[in-house]
Amino acid sequence: MKIAIPKERRPGETRIAGSPDLVKKLVGFGFEVIVEKGAGVAASMTDAAFKEVGANIAKDEASTLADADVVLKVQRPILEEDETKSELALMKRGAILIGHLGALYNRDDVRAYAEAGITTFAMELMPRISRAQSMDILSSQSNLAGYRAVLDASVEFSSAFPMMMTAAGTIAPAKVFVMGAGVAGLQAIATARRLGAVVTATDVRPATREQVESLGAKFLQVDAEAMKEAETEGGYAKEMTEDFRNKQRAAVHEHLKKQDIVITTALIPGRPAPELVTEDMVKDMKPGSVIVDLAVEAGGNCPLSQLGKVVIKHGVKIVGHANMPGRLATDASTLFAKNILNFLNPHIDKENKTINFDWDDETVKGTLVTRDGQVVNPALTGEGA
Ligand code: NAD
Repeated sequence: MKIAIPKERRPGETRIAGSPDLVKKLVGFGFEVIVEKGAGVAASMTDAAFKEVGANIAKDEASTLADADVVLKVQRPILEEDETKSELALMKRGAILIGHLGALYNRDDVRAYAEAGITTFAMELMPRISRAQSMDILSSQSNLAGYRAVLDASVEFSSAFPMMMTAAGTIAPAKVFVMGAGVAGLQAIATARRLGAVVTATDVRPATREQVESLGAKFLQVDAEAMKEAETEGGYAKEMTEDFRNKQRAAVHEHLKKQDIVITTALIPGRPAPELVTEDMVKDMKPGSVIVDLAVEAGGNCPLSQLGKVVIKHGVKIVGHANMPGRLATDASTLFAKNILNFLNPHIDKENKTINFDWDDETVKGTLVTRDGQVVNPALTGEGA
């Protein structure tokens, strides 16, 4: 069985869906692994490192994907009418594609996978069950994004994070406010605390209060009663009512006037990111404050943030870097590859050196998007949430 790891083609993508660790394991199971030349360079993983653990290096994407039974990708393949530019056209019928496909947002692509006879697994749809935590690419990547957001903020901020008592006088610690205390937010809190900042945070899910406090940060409570209804069975946030949003705006507006750094991470799956920091709030922030909008790719938690840019509005620096995990490409790729291995492992038939998916397994059913020429995921066929 041939497993292919091509170079990512989408602009600004520095990650790779494999790592030498993953390749070593796959080769150990008896698979043939083909890595495209230079695929890991932006993640500091050289062709030599892949070769050393038994990968074959292919000269281009066409030869990487030709005959591949399984294709591992970070981002969804490029689809062009012009077949010479289409990554999908390079895959054979019956191949299995695994990656972050953004399936809920790219439904035309999903139909094209089905038509091309590709079996696809969208790793971002991994169910949030305990057993699947080690397969969850959203968690592994968000964790790194939360860490990096704080470091990026510290670079843009013209003061220090920790309190410093110097002979020339005392520097007050920076005040950091984290909005959205999920995986990225909790890591941002922990990182800001390690740097010595005074940290506050808010969220709509009730469980987050204790998590925030256990990291030594203070929780900004908006409406405890409304928060009881804020979480889906899958552990994600729901869109909040207008009444809640008004209360949240009032509380946040006052709080922001005293903050130096704001890290926003709030997301609602399948919906645009909620607007949490309005232009009026930005106007009232201290000059030199920094906002890092981690939700910028989903429309942003601040309407002033711009994807891929650092802008200054009303004296406040607003950071909208695209692909935050890609700014830590080595760790992000290593964890992404580990997630894929953990997903595949239970289905690897080591004796026959092949993969036999258990189609009834929750992690398989949850992520399977197309099979046998059909779109099969309930989230896409309208049969499920
Ligand atoms: P996410 O990236 O979808 O959202 C980030 C945070 O934004 C969430 O905490 C959400 O509640 C918050 N948010 C949404 N709307 C908001 C608003 N209007 N105001 C303030 N905050 C808002 O979420 P996530 O980080 O991926 O994780 C959500 C939860 O799922 C966490 O508790 C996490 O521990 C859990 N989780 C479980 C598993 C598993 O069991 N396999 C895997 C990953 C995450």
